Amino acid sequence: MTKSVYLWFTLILISASNHSEAQQRTYVDVPGIDQSIKPGDNFFRYVNGRWSDTVKIANDQSGVGSYSFMNIPQKQLLQNILDSVSKTKNVIGSIDQKVGDFYASGMDMVTINKLGYQPLKSTMTRIDAISNVPSLLKFVGAEVKAGNLSLIRFGISPDKKNSGINIAHVYQAGTNLPERDYYFKTDSSTVHIQQAYKTYLCSLFQLTGSNRATGMKNADIVFAIEKQLAASHKTNIQLRDVKANYNKVSVAAINTSQADMGWATLLANLGAKTDSIDVPQPAYFEKLNVMLKTIPISDWKIYLKANTLGNYAEMLSQPFIDASFEFSKVLSGQAVQKSRRQVMTENVDNYLGQALGQLYVKRYFNEDSKKRVLILVNNLQKSFENRINHLEWMSDSTKQKAKDKLYAITKKIGYPDKWKNYDNVNITSGRYFENVLSVNQNDYQVELAKLNKPVDRTEWHTTPSTVTAYYNPPLNEIVFPAGILQYPYFDFAADDAINYGGIGMVIGHEMTHAFDDQGAQYDKDGNVKNWWTKEDYQKFREKTQQLSALYSTFTVLDTVHIKGALALGENTADNGGVAIAYDAFKLTQQGKDSVKIDGFTPDQRFFLSIARIWRVKTRDAFLRTYVNTNPHSPAMWRVNGPLMNFAPFYKAFNIQPGDKNYKSEAERVRIW
Ligand SMILES: [Zn+2]
Repeated sequence: MTKSVYLWFTLILISASNHSEAQQRTYVDVPGIDQSIKPGDNFFRYVNGRWSDTVKIANDQSGVGSYSFMNIPQKQLLQNILDSVSKTKNVIGSIDQKVGDFYASGMDMVTINKLGYQPLKSTMTRIDAISNVPSLLKFVGAEVKAGNLSLIRFGISPDKKNSGINIAHVYQAGTNLPERDYYFKTDSSTVHIQQAYKTYLCSLFQLTGSNRATGMKNADIVFAIEKQLAASHKTNIQLRDVKANYNKVSVAAINTSQADMGWATLLANLGAKTDSIDVPQPAYFEKLNVMLKTIPISDWKIYLKANTLGNYAEMLSQPFIDASFEFSKVLSGQAVQKSRRQVMTENVDNYLGQALGQLYVKRYFNEDSKKRVLILVNNLQKSFENRINHLEWMSDSTKQKAKDKLYAITKKIGYPDKWKNYDNVNITSGRYFENVLSVNQNDYQVELAKLNKPVDRTEWHTTPSTVTAYYNPPLNEIVFPAGILQYPYFDFAADDAINYGGIGMVIGHEMTHAFDDQGAQYDKDGNVKNWWTKEDYQKFREKTQQLSALYSTFTVLDTVHIKGALALGENTADNGGVAIAYDAFKLTQQGKDSVKIDGFTPDQRFFLSIARIWRVKTRDAFLRTYVNTNPHSPAMWRVNGPLMNFAPFYKAFNIQPGDKNYKSEAERVRIW
């Protein structure tokens, strides 16, 4: 809920598969291959179709396979740690004590249920006391410091045009549906979601003493306010525009132009001592500035109550948790709630991730994998350089700048050198709500302390146990936490084809983000600054437009297509990732051989590994939300998309004209 906002993040959300497969170490699931499907018709289904047709999605999940939220073996490791530290008598103030007691306090549903919404009553009283716009904004600002976000999202991160310094940003906010379009679309699926949201809001009011009629009336008031705010929001595609989402203004100027927002007072309340601030979505605040006066204070108070209850519902008693789930399942398709243990494992990772991460790394991380993966990263970097050298569409001067950027990339592998400080976090068993609050307050102060200070280049924006990886444009860095350095992405015992098609593809993907439609606008130092010749950039833009158009033709569900413009950065990274990983693989001994294993050539095994790491099956409701909101293409298209553009795949599996995913050379899109 309170995690800092890094809009430029481009995470790949993926994870390890189930235990039994990992233990078998077959690497290629030969019996799983569906010989009735031609690789050129649908390579994803050729590799994963049989698995997909037989595997069952658990009732408490929205999918199964290789996405992080379904990462059962990984969560089991974390649960082992939590079971252990929560039952041990730890030194007060130690990491073990904080992690253990946070977990135990969240598991203590007897106490949580007894309290009901008692923990929020003082906040509700403060909302009741709001009497005008200044007191409303004072409340909003104070709650930001406690992680109870409503009308503004405030964050500290690098200045895009001076990436060594952190500045303050305020982002569009105020809505709770996944994206602005959810307030305006009139198709049956969206209308169903809108209704479910209103029902949820009504439940929250009923649970805090209102009758049903008042609850419904309040829900309509809240929805109407959110809809007005949403009208000023940028879409998730517009939010990808790097330059259009940079708008540094002086506090003095915005304090005058948006007088009702009272920016100088608001920032003072936030503790932010600064003369300037980045307002990347100014239309939202212009709208809010007007709405502060046009919406009655009594309606704003209803809105703030709903928002506060919604923010904290999952930390309250079972009826609040149930109400929250009834709404969220419409978006996820999940049939029943996860066990409390699963929920709390995820929450400890969310709230105290770098504390839990220290315990995880100590128990489960093999330091040798760090060295081995660094070798792969270096090999891929060389392959990328080679591809740049051979690009026929790019001039020598831009090539040199691209290579400078490539070799300036910082590599982070495993876990941070310096852990986040939790000294000011107070955790006590039996006080779950206060524990959450203490973490939120600490997180805010840690963020605030960075304002107008040099960027700490050692910082990590994910936890070590997370099965993910990311590229961070302002720091020009690639990050591979311990969680992803395991099967099926990486295994010491696997042949190179498997590892290059696994973690190699992931590494290539992250490197390519430095050169996707967004990354290409940042220079080697992480500043938004042009380093291209005009002609080269024009050609690059044309190629990215072709890729966007190609992916927009892919059908996900009935009438749902991939949003090519939303997924452009990720699809560019997937296409580059496959190509770079393949080139690096061809430099290994196995890459030069033709010795078959399990009946497959080295090249075939490389492509089988790519299809294997995206083995996933999801519920339709989840997939619909995913395509509307997630910048990654669904799993099938993370495999079939890049491969239909990649000549060595055609050769490896003898793909011919007439095969469903066959593209002529002219139709194939190749950027990097
Ligand atoms: Zn990515």
